[in-house]
Amino acid sequence: MNLHNLYRQVILDHAQHPRNLRALDDALRIELRNPTCGDEITLYLQVAEGIVQKAAFQGTGCSISLSSASMLTEAVQGQPVEQVLRLNHEFRQLLQGRPADGELLGDLEALSGVAAFPARIKCALLAWNALEQGVQTNPPGEGGSEDHE
Ligand code: ZN
Repeated sequence: MNLHNLYRQVILDHAQHPRNLRALDDALRIELRNPTCGDEITLYLQVAEGIVQKAAFQGTGCSISLSSASMLTEAVQGQPVEQVLRLNHEFRQLLQGRPADGELLGDLEALSGVAAFPARIKCALLAWNALEQGVQTNPPGEGGSEDHE
């Protein structure tokens, strides 16, 4: 089996048939651009009780930016914010060519080849930069307490 071809198929599948490609009402809306490539992503996040209840996106751009955004929405939906931040960290490790938690990353590991193309890393990270901004915005009523149960 050729891992490179498998990864390529996963990326193309998400780019050609993006998951969760829609706007969400009553959601955080983060719009980011990657001027070097012309990618534009608007990420929608519904966060409640410390959990990303729903994630969706709209955008235009290259296959890498779209497939990364598509995989992101699938990966974070229904996950606690804490887990989403871990995933974000592992994905950035992967793109820097460092050891990363493949089990946690799942399909996202298909983007590991991007590490060899520094110019494309910005494409892959665009949606994740939006995610970081989104989950760092505390929803009202959460209190911002550092306490953990
Ligand atoms: Zn791009």
